[in-house]
Amino acid sequence: MFFIIKRKKVILFFILCILICLIVYFIFNLVNKKTLLVSAFEEENFQDKISNLMNGNEKIAYLTFDDGPTSKSTPKILEILSEENVKATFFVIGKHVKQNPELVKQAYNDGHYIANHGYSHNNNKLYSSGDSFINEIKSTDLEIGKAIGIDNYSSHIFRFPNGYMANAFKSQKQQYAKLLNDIDYAYIDWNCLNKDSEKKYTNSELLNNLKNSCKNKGTLVILMHDTSDVNETDLVLKDSIDYLKEEGYIFNNFYDF
Ligand SMILES: [Zn+2]
Repeated sequence: MFFIIKRKKVILFFILCILICLIVYFIFNLVNKKTLLVSAFEEENFQDKISNLMNGNEKIAYLTFDDGPTSKSTPKILEILSEENVKATFFVIGKHVKQNPELVKQAYNDGHYIANHGYSHNNNKLYSSGDSFINEIKSTDLEIGKAIGIDNYSSHIFRFPNGYMANAFKSQKQQYAKLLNDIDYAYIDWNCLNKDSEKKYTNSELLNNLKNSCKNKGTLVILMHDTSDVNETDLVLKDSIDYLKEEGYIFNNFYDF
C-alpha cells in the first residue's frame, strides 16, 4: 500500500516537472522572439539588410497594409488573414491608432507586425524639421505602445508616406533618413503593389495589377492599404493570397526578419 502511494507521488512529481518545463519553454519562446527582433534591429547594417530584402530570390511574401487602422477596412482584413493563417505587417498612422486602439491590439495579438508610418501622414508637417520627423515616429510608437500595453514600444521599421522612392520631398527624405539609424530604425518601401490607392480599378483589375507587379520577382514586399478612401482591397485579398500560395510563396512578417 505504502509503495503504491509513493509510486503515485513519483508519477505526479514527474507530470508536474513536465508541465513546468512546457510553461518555461513557452515563455522563453515568446520572450526570445521579441529579444531576437530587437537585437537584429540594433545591428549597424540593419538598413542595408532590410533594403536587400527585396533583392532576395526566395519566394517569401511580406504583405503590408498602410494608412490604418480604420474601422471600415481593418477588421475585414484581419478576419481574412486569420482565415488564411497569414501573418502580415501594418504600417499604422499614429492619429488612426489613437482613434482605433482596439484594432491595433487585435492585430498585434493575432501575430501581425505593427510598423510605423508617421503620426499625421501630412508631408508638410512631417518634413518641417528633423525634430518634427522624429517626433512623429516617436508619438506613433507611443500610441501603439498604449494600444497594446507595452511601455517604450519601438516598431523599428518606418515607411515614408508615399514611399522613399517618390520624388516629392526627396531632399528632406534623404536628409532625415540618416536620423533613423540613431533611434534603431530602418525604412522600407515595396517592390510589388495592386495599386489599390488609385481608386480606379475593378476587383479583377486589382488582382491582375498584383500578378503583373510581382512577375519574375523573388521576395516580395507588397503594398496594400487598410483605409476607407481606397479600393476595397479586402474584396481581393483572399484571391491575392490564394494566387501567391499557388505560385509557391510563403508569408512572413518582420518578426521573421
Ligand atoms: Zn501612406
